[in-house]
Amino acid sequence: MMTDWRKRFQDNEIAPVYVIGAGISGCVIAERVSTLFGRRVVLFEKRSFVGGNSRAEIDPETGIEIHRYGSHIFHTTNEKVWNYIRKFTEFNYYRHRVMIRSGGHVFSMPIDLKTINDFYGTQYSPDEARLFLASEIRKAGIATPKNLEERAVSLVGRGLYKRLIRGYTAKQWGRDPKTLPESIINRLPVRYSYDDAYFGTAWQGIPAKGFGAMFDALLANPLIEVRTGVDYFAVRDAIPKNAIIFYTGMIDELFDFCYGQLEWRSLRFETETIPIRDYQGTSVMNYGDPTVPFTRIHEFKHYHPEWKKSYEESKTVICREYPVPWKSGRDAYYPVNSDLNQQRFSLYQTEVARNPSLIVCGRLGSYNYLDMDAAVANALKLFDS
Ligand code: UDP
Repeated sequence: MMTDWRKRFQDNEIAPVYVIGAGISGCVIAERVSTLFGRRVVLFEKRSFVGGNSRAEIDPETGIEIHRYGSHIFHTTNEKVWNYIRKFTEFNYYRHRVMIRSGGHVFSMPIDLKTINDFYGTQYSPDEARLFLASEIRKAGIATPKNLEERAVSLVGRGLYKRLIRGYTAKQWGRDPKTLPESIINRLPVRYSYDDAYFGTAWQGIPAKGFGAMFDALLANPLIEVRTGVDYFAVRDAIPKNAIIFYTGMIDELFDFCYGQLEWRSLRFETETIPIRDYQGTSVMNYGDPTVPFTRIHEFKHYHPEWKKSYEESKTVICREYPVPWKSGRDAYYPVNSDLNQQRFSLYQTEVARNPSLIVCGRLGSYNYLDMDAAVANALKLFDS
């Protein structure tokens, strides 16, 4: 059956469609509406630029592409998403790998055979490592993991957990891992091989000409009118009442927080240009020690080794990432997955369902930590039929 908004879409063929928020979800929706239906789109974005949290800019001083909101690597196992996004950009051959510094050593992350052998000073084969960690896990005696700590210990044992997971997680979430849901750690695989790829996905890369060029291509259709620096809530009264609206902002704000505010975790970034060719030899170095206040350092030039000039440049740009509590006015990054937040979110969804012209989606709208490819997949799904 055709959902209400799709029906209205056809009934009301002349009016523009409004898209709120120019992150990846909003940009894909604007592209689809204009391309598939030949409809005019007005895209409102509060910030002065498009791209949302995957915004990246080329630094005029060094030529290095700086990710304004922390590292973003496009990666996916979804063939449809991969085929779609490549209409707007080519990708380079970057493959993400992450290291973690802890207790004066550097280890590979996620935990793989090299991490295990480096950590314990061993030379285990895959089977030997499995047997060894199984005995470590048995020692911990956890039958059914009930939180992040117990889940992590039942995957890798207490030793690796304490040094590579506990400190990092506590800093990232500002909470004891015993109070966090186990689902968070499921994002990280454990491998009994020397495969040190961060993502176990079929396809990945960084847009060959940068994220900015990719967003420009997504929004190139002249039917799309981009209005940056415009807060939707300041102009909403001027939008016709029956207009079709795709809203990708915070769902609670849309309803004036009537069921209470949804909680987020925020980040603060400290970016610095330093006169060194290569600061850390890799794009992301995590810091597991609880005494180090940041969780990771990004060094952006490593995302484009093929950009020879900026890669060889005698300067580099690094960025320290500090997790901070979220409050109104700060950027929202990670939804805080508690029962109260989920209950509130469901109430807001009921409000959305009352309005057939309103579609709420994206990371902020669906209160869900979406990777870029998941955001694209969700946006494409809206236009499946
Ligand atoms: N994590 C960890 N140590 C690390 C990296 C990740 O303990 O060195 C845990 C941490 O709990 C984090 C989760 O794994 O919240 C998911 O990490 P991911 O890298 O997916 O987070 P993102 O990079 O998306 O912020």
